[in-house]
Parts: sequence; structure tokens; C-alpha cells
Amino acid sequence: MQFIDLKKQYQILKSDIQINIDKVLEHGQYIMGPEVAHLEEKLAKFAGSKYCLSCSSGTDALLIALMAKGVKSGDAIITTPFTYIATAEVISLLGATPIFVDVYPETFNLNPDKITDAVNKAKNMGLKPKGIIPVDLFGLPARYRLIENIAKELNLFVLEDAAQGFGGSIRDKKAGSFGDIAATSFFPAKPLGCYGDGGAIFTDNTELFSLMNSIRVHGQGESKYDCDRIGLNGRLDTIQAAILIPKLEIYDKEIELRQKVANLYSENLGNCKKIQVPFIPKDYKSVWAQYSILLENDKVRSDVIDALRLEGVPSVVYYQKALHLQKTFEKLGYKVGDLPIAENISNRILSLPMHPYLDEISIKNISKIIKSVF
Ligand SMILES: *Cc1c(COP(=O)(O)O)cnc(C)c1O
Repeated sequence: MQFIDLKKQYQILKSDIQINIDKVLEHGQYIMGPEVAHLEEKLAKFAGSKYCLSCSSGTDALLIALMAKGVKSGDAIITTPFTYIATAEVISLLGATPIFVDVYPETFNLNPDKITDAVNKAKNMGLKPKGIIPVDLFGLPARYRLIENIAKELNLFVLEDAAQGFGGSIRDKKAGSFGDIAATSFFPAKPLGCYGDGGAIFTDNTELFSLMNSIRVHGQGESKYDCDRIGLNGRLDTIQAAILIPKLEIYDKEIELRQKVANLYSENLGNCKKIQVPFIPKDYKSVWAQYSILLENDKVRSDVIDALRLEGVPSVVYYQKALHLQKTFEKLGYKVGDLPIAENISNRILSLPMHPYLDEISIKNISKIIKSVF
């Protein structure tokens, strides 16, 4: 069994994808070919955002957004410690300082009640608080209405890290449309993935859009040969755009299938008191990048992992270590116990096989193995 089975989807889309790749090979515009703009238009429409810029990865999407916001040394950016390293890495890469705030124990997403304290902490450190990066962890959007209100009050920008959340929503508003800018990833294992690295940036702001457009291609100006600012080589390959176009066409259907898989897991596991199944607040929709359960403790989790492995079922711990305890952030001075909820979750979390084509028998079987441990 695969943790994420990408082959099943490929079998379904095989001819469409191959035709699209062939088209690119024939027209030869490997960089910024017509498929790129075509995809961007479709992505913007999907997310309900005015502009979309495709780019080289989710990490670069975050980086380009922060560069457009002028983030630099002496600035503080507030984010969650319970996420993939890329979220905080880009902050440090620009010389700014990540300030981690704890998460909700139910959704594992950034707790907006902690933002004001973090802003004060940054100021006490002599830093200038500039923005917040909430993460749509495991596919569930963060609490944007509240975060956006607090951000406005404190004069901070909001950058949505929708690398796992693209396809999720709150009421009728889709991930990719929250905050001032949103960033997503098309890494193959993400809910909407390409066959290499890729990402996208979304905004409604015309000025930010043209800045990010310039940064994406070496800070280019009006003419291709003008350089107005420092930028990067941050484009999405035409071939990856050609691969994403047919995938986006079936994405809504796949999101429904993901929801069915999640429902089946929760039905099968939810009646066991020793297992905390995912909690999705009212009006929220997760895109189920991961289906993650909480177990009693580290020891029980190891037993569950072993029981699954014995039956050939892969499982993964996202994330073993909260970011504030990573070696690279040692200099920030965090200690064990500083962000107790994120730390507690990292000792108990376990993600189970999850993809749109996971069948009911497998889900029942996985659930049975897990429950057999108790
Ligand atoms: C995957 C991921 C990223 C980085 O995306 P890449 O395309 O791998 O660079 C950033 N943030 C989160 C939360 C992610 O899961």
C-alpha cells in the first residue's frame, strides 16, 4: 500500500497529460509557454482571486510574497511552529525573525488569540512586526476572519500558506483567497500536485501582483533587459503547467473523493475513545492533504506505527519536531515547554494513507489494525 498513490490518478489522466506534454514539446516554448498563462487564469478563477502567478515551488511562492512585502532584517513575522520548515525558513532567509505562536489543540492551526502577545514580544526584542503567515495545516484553512481583523488592528499583512490547503474553504471563500497574498505548492504529494516542483501565488492587489511578477523573473522591469530590483528565477516550467491543467479539471471531483475517504476514516475510528479524529469547525472544508489522528502519547503512537507497518501500511509523523525546537532556530532562544500545545501534538500526531482513490476496504482494514492496538 502507498501512503499517497499518485499512479491511480495518472492512469485516469494519462492520455490528456501525454497529449499536453507533447504539445509543449512540439511548440518548444519550455519557459513561459502559453500553458502557463492559461493555467494561471484557471487557478485564479478556482480560488476566487483576482490574480494568480505560477512559480517554481511553494517555498518560492512564500519567498516572492515576502520579498514583495519588503521583509528584511529587523522585521518580525508571526507564524505557527507546527508546520513544514519552509514556512519559517523563508522568513529567516530574508534576514527577518520568525515569532512562533502556539496552535489550537483541536485543529492544530495558529491560535489568533496569541498574536498580540507575539507582537509585543517582537517589539521588546527591538524588532518591527510586519506580518503573519497562517498555515492551512493538513488542508484545513486557518481562522482567517479573526486573523485578518487582528492583523488590520495591528497593521500587519497576512500571507496565507495554502501549500496544503488549496481546495479547502470557509463558507464560500476558497483557500488561496485569504489574506493579502496566498501561496500554494504543487509538489507531487500535495492535494493538487504536478510532476516536479511548482507553486502559485494569489492576490487581489494590483500593485503586489506586478511587484511579484517582476520578482519572479530576476526583478525585470518594463523591458526584459531592465532590472528594477533583486528577484529570482522563480518561474513554473511550461511542462508542469501542461500537466496541471487536466489535473485541475478533475480537482473538484477529487476533493469530494478525499472528503469521502476522510468521512470513512472518522466513521471507523471515531468510536474508539483512545483515538482523536480530526475536528473540522462548522462552515470549514478541509481538502485533506493529510488525515491525521492524535494518540494518547509517543509510546502508543509507536505501537500503532509498528502494528500498521507489520501489515504493510505506511504512516508518517507530520511533524516530529515543532519548528521552535529545530536546531536551525536555536539562536532564537526557545526552550521545551514554550509552546506546549504544538509540542504535545508533535508527540502524538500520526498521518494515515490519504488520497482520493483509497478504497473503503483499505480504510476499514487500516482502521481495524489501529484499533487492534487497544
Ligand atoms: C510543502 C509545503 C511548503 C513548501 O512547498 P514546496 O513546493 O515543497 O516548496 C510550504 N509550506 C507548507 C505548509 C507545506 O506543506
